[in-house]
This record gives sequence, C-alpha cells and structure tokens, in this order.
Amino acid sequence: MLSTLEEHILSHIDDDELIGWVQELTRIPSVWKPETGEGEEAAARWVASRCRELGLDTHFEFVQPGRPNVVALHRMETGKTLMFEGHTDVVTEGDPASWTDPPFSAAIRDGRIYGRGANDMKAGLVSALAAIKAIVQSGVQLDGTILLAALCDEEGDMIGVKHFVDGGWADQVSAAIICEPEENHLCICQKGVMWLHVVIHGVMAHGAMPLTGVNTAYPMARFLSLVRSLELQVMADHGVDPLLGKPSITPTIVMSPARGYGEAQKNVMPGAAETMLDCRLIPGQEPDALVREIDNLLKSAVAGEPRLRATLEVLEIRHPTFTDPDHPLVQALGGAYTDLTGRPPVYGGVPGSTDGTILHARKDVPIVTCGPGDIHIPHHVDEWVSIDEIKTAARMYVLAAARYLGTRTVG
Ligand SMILES: [Zn+2]
Repeated sequence: MLSTLEEHILSHIDDDELIGWVQELTRIPSVWKPETGEGEEAAARWVASRCRELGLDTHFEFVQPGRPNVVALHRMETGKTLMFEGHTDVVTEGDPASWTDPPFSAAIRDGRIYGRGANDMKAGLVSALAAIKAIVQSGVQLDGTILLAALCDEEGDMIGVKHFVDGGWADQVSAAIICEPEENHLCICQKGVMWLHVVIHGVMAHGAMPLTGVNTAYPMARFLSLVRSLELQVMADHGVDPLLGKPSITPTIVMSPARGYGEAQKNVMPGAAETMLDCRLIPGQEPDALVREIDNLLKSAVAGEPRLRATLEVLEIRHPTFTDPDHPLVQALGGAYTDLTGRPPVYGGVPGSTDGTILHARKDVPIVTCGPGDIHIPHHVDEWVSIDEIKTAARMYVLAAARYLGTRTVG
C-alpha cells in the first residue's frame, strides 16, 4: 500500500520528461574510443547538468582524460546513505547498417526506445535521476542521503568504480541499487569472475626437426584437458546455485605462438603457447583455492621436461556477491515492486559482474541489481528498453529511497 506521502512524491514524476531524458542521453554516443580519446565525457556532462539543476552537490571527476565520473548527493546530515549506481559508457554499436534504426537515434516504436545503450544502461541511470528529481521537488525530507554515481568504464576494466572507491566515496554508502537492466527483478547475487593468464614456454624449432626444440602444444593440451576435468569437479562440488546456475572455467583464448613470440608459420614450432581462463564463481567458492588448484594442474602438465617453464598470472579477481533477501533495501525494493505492479517481487542473479561487484568486494556494500530493460538485450543489435519498465523503475527507486532511508517531515 502506498502512503499519502509516497503518492505525493510519485506525483512529481513527469513521465514525458523521463522518457525524453532517456532519449536525450541515448543520443549521446559514449563508446570508449582509445584511438581518439573520446568516451563518456559528453554523457557525463549531461548527467552533471541535470544534477546541478536539481541543486544536488555535484562532483565531476576525471578518472582518465575523456573518462569522468559524476557523483551527486542529495544530502542530509544524519541517517544512512543510499547509492544509485549507473555507468555512462556503452559498448560499440558494431556495423550501423545492421541496425533497423541508426544506433543512436533513440527511436520510439511499440512502447520501446531503441538505441545502443538505451537498455544498458541509460534508462536505468535516468530512472534514478528522475526518482531523485521527484523526491527533491516533492519537498519531502528523507532521513538520509541519496548518492547518485554515474561512472565510466563499466564495460572495460571498471576504472570508474575503482576510482570512486579509492576516492573514499563508498565509505559512506550504506547500501546500493545497481540500476542495470534486470526487468526490474531483484538480483541479490552476482557471479564472481577471475581471469587467469597462463603461458607455457618451450624451445622454438624447425617443424622438420622438432626434436631439436621443446613443443609447447602438447603440455598446453594436457593442461586444458586437466582444466576441463577440474571444471566438472567444481560443478559437482558446488552444485547449482538457484539464482546463478553453475560455476564455470572457460578457456577464452588459446594461442600458439603466444603473443610476442612472432608470427605463426606452418613450418615453425613456436617457443610458447598461452591461454586465458575466464572463471565464473558462485557464492561458496574461494577464488584463492581455485587458483592454487589450477596452478597445480599447470605444474603437472609441464612436469618431466626441465626445459618447459610455465607462468600463471592472476589478472583480476572479483568475488561473487550475495545480499540477504531480508536486507532492508531488498525488502524496500520488493515491497515497492508489489505495490506498483500487484505482483510478488521476482528474485534473480547476475551471471556477469557489474560495478556493484567492486563495491561489494572492496567495501562490503550490500547491493541489489535492479533496473529497467530486458535481461538478454544488452550488447545486441537493435538494443531496446521497455517504456513501461522505465516508468516502473523510476517509481520503485522513489519508494525504495523513501522506505529504506525513512521520511522526516510531511511535504
Ligand atoms: Zn551495464
């Protein structure tokens, strides 16, 4: 049931403006292009302008040239801080000719907005902005602070959220809504990820005289087949997470010669082979233990030939995340979903990692990933987002903020 106060705040959501804003932001291409140094800056400036118009305490911080974060606060001196998180970068549109509409047109058809980034995740970011605007304009005082973070580089190395954490912003955050496209479902867990880079070094030789060298193809093949056995063992040991499914270990790159060891040639036995393992983790898995197991497999794959040498480098570890369904923020969002749609909340899990993964891993921030947009559409050609879901998301965010932080005075 909505309270009179909540209905008062919700009456300040202007749906035409909300949808117009999603179109405006989608029309600003924010694909990171290292060759020109163009990225999220124009999109971030658009967000910062809206925040300043609302009178938010707005911070514009460059993480790298062309790649800023925007952090805006609707401050109260006391109470908790609720963070709304969105990323301003979008992935490449690919071949524009394969799109029905130009990729950054933000065309509206059949109740949908089409465009690269409309779904992932300009609609979610704008929904949060519209929710904050409604709260500010309603005059209702919340008993806590809202922090909006529009961060760069979620689709890359997540330098935006890492900069946000390093700058101390996350220290005050009590809980966060990650506004990624989840069809407004409540995703309370996310898979972890670990990338391992493995190189096996041997001795290069002429293909006609292979015995004068040491071939790396066979130990690499041995290693990968051991990794596959380990993956099956890990799946058996950890079972199927009800929201996330199975863990996995996937060789995503297998190369011989390894990068930096020259061109592949049909009569040259290369001096090194490399692989990348993309490990996806579910709650209950310990990344460090998995690294040790994989390292042991690598040692056994090269054992017996002293001229073989193997290196394993851990490029990144992002732990799996889990937020208790009884956490007050989950409860607030779930209740909001029910009050707005008449349906019980749908719980889900995120198979990939998001900026929320970093907030959770580094600062133990409880996170819920919840925003408008079909789950399977991100990064596709003809990306789209449902206008109805956007309207629901903005209202869910208003109610979640009011109920999680509490309200102070009747406006
Ligand atoms: Zn995203």
